[in-house]
Order: sequence, then C-alpha cells, then structure tokens
Amino acid sequence: MSVETSSIAANIEVVRERIRRAAGRAGRKPEEITLVAVAKTFPAESIRLAHAAGVRHFGENRVQEWEQKQPLVADLDAAWHLVGHLQSNKVSKAVRLFHAIDSLDSLPLAQKLDREVAGLGAPGGVGAQHHSTRHGGLGTRSVAGAATRLPVLIEVRLAPEETKSGVAEAGLPGLAEAVFALPHVDLRGLMCLPPYFDDSKQARPYFRRLRELRDALALRLGRALPELSMGMSHDFEVAIEEGATQIRLGTAIFGSRAQK
Ligand SMILES: *Cc1c(COP(=O)(O)O)cnc(C)c1O
Repeated sequence: MSVETSSIAANIEVVRERIRRAAGRAGRKPEEITLVAVAKTFPAESIRLAHAAGVRHFGENRVQEWEQKQPLVADLDAAWHLVGHLQSNKVSKAVRLFHAIDSLDSLPLAQKLDREVAGLGAPGGVGAQHHSTRHGGLGTRSVAGAATRLPVLIEVRLAPEETKSGVAEAGLPGLAEAVFALPHVDLRGLMCLPPYFDDSKQARPYFRRLRELRDALALRLGRALPELSMGMSHDFEVAIEEGATQIRLGTAIFGSRAQK
C-alpha cells in the first residue's frame, strides 16, 4: 500500500469518527450526514482511493477540471456534485457531467439547467451517455428517461461583504419559488460557504442562519427541503451540530492543495 493510499483511507476513517462524535453531541445519527469529498486539484487516482474507502459522493468546483477527470472514474458507482459557481456557458456540459448542482444562484441559470435536462430526456438526446444512479438524498436520475429531474441546492450568500457567490438572502424566496416551479430540476435544499474563521465556532451563526432560512422556505413552499450543504474541513463539526446533511471536505481527506 502506497503512502498516499494509506493516508487517504486513514483520513477518511478519522473524518468518520469526527462525524460520529459531532452527530452524537447534537443528538443526530451519523447516517443523516453525507460526506461529499471535494477532489478539486487532486488526480482521478485520489478519487479512486477515497471510493475504495467507501466514499460515494464527490464534489468538484470547476466544470473544466471535472471534464478532464470524469472519464477516468466514470466506471465508479458514485454521485458527482458541482459545488462551485456555474457559468451560463457551461450549463450544457454540467448536466452531462454531474448528478447534482449544489451551487445554483440565479433564475436564468436554473431555467437553462431545466431546458438542458429536458433535452437530455428527448429522443436522440445525448442522455444515454450518462449512467443512471440511485443514491440516498439524491433521488433517482436516469437521464435516458423523460421524467428525470436534476437535484439542485440553492447557494445563499450569507456574508455579502466577504463572498461573491450565492443569492442574497432577500432574493432567496423568489428564486426558490421560481425554481420549485421548474419541471426538470428538483430543489432539495440550501448550501452556503461562510467566511473562513481561525476559530470555527465563529461560523456557527452562519450555519444556524442557513437552517433558519431553509425552515422558513419549507413552510412557505409547503414542502420539505431536506438538504443543508454546509461545513468544510475546518468547520464541519460545527455545521453538523447546526444541522448539516452534507459536508464538503477537501483538505481533511486529500491533504492540502498546492498554492496557486
Ligand atoms: C474546496 C471546496 C470545499 C472543500 O474545502 P476544504 O477546506 O479543503 O475542505 C468545499 N466547498 C467548496 C464550494 C469548495 O470549493
């Protein structure tokens, strides 16, 4: 076993234990929390190693990078999530390369995604390239069928002064209602990326706020929004205590990324 093999597997084991403890503190079950391994900047081989250690959800933040790596791991039974900002001109690629878009932040983008997914289901569409996947929390997406829906999360900008991506709080209800009405996307919940704090406890109000926004939105829409994607390597335990159902971990699993 190479050094890298053992370290990724060992990191995942440590992370799982930390998830168990954080869930325990909050009176939650560890199974309620999906580990999304964010493999940006790391090679396809790292994804394989994490998959061998039991990880089934992976995140990437750039469509172009994932376009290069995806063919190398397309045989794996896993769900691929886009967690970074999606540019309008990449939507067509994104629906072919990802099972879930966790960073939706505008109505034009949602409408474009909706149209592209509809096209995948059409006769002669390219959906056949895409394998169908069944995963907890993601629903079923058999792209060859017309009834398929793309799971999405809306990213909320909770610290407008410090972050650029996401919809402003004031725009969230309107966007959510409009997305909810689209036939080919399935609004599953919310996502956020709070500012970085040396003391992870300082991120707690942001996580709590996202949960409150989700609860209010679910009431307004009259429907459950089960997913809260929040928490990264340095603050995921706090996010779990505040109700995260998906945590997005890069460094804690794959090690530190090379500085750009
Ligand atoms: C890179 C990234 C992560 C993971 O970051 P780590 O601090 O390495 O865990 C999570 N979410 C998004 C949106 C990212 O871009």
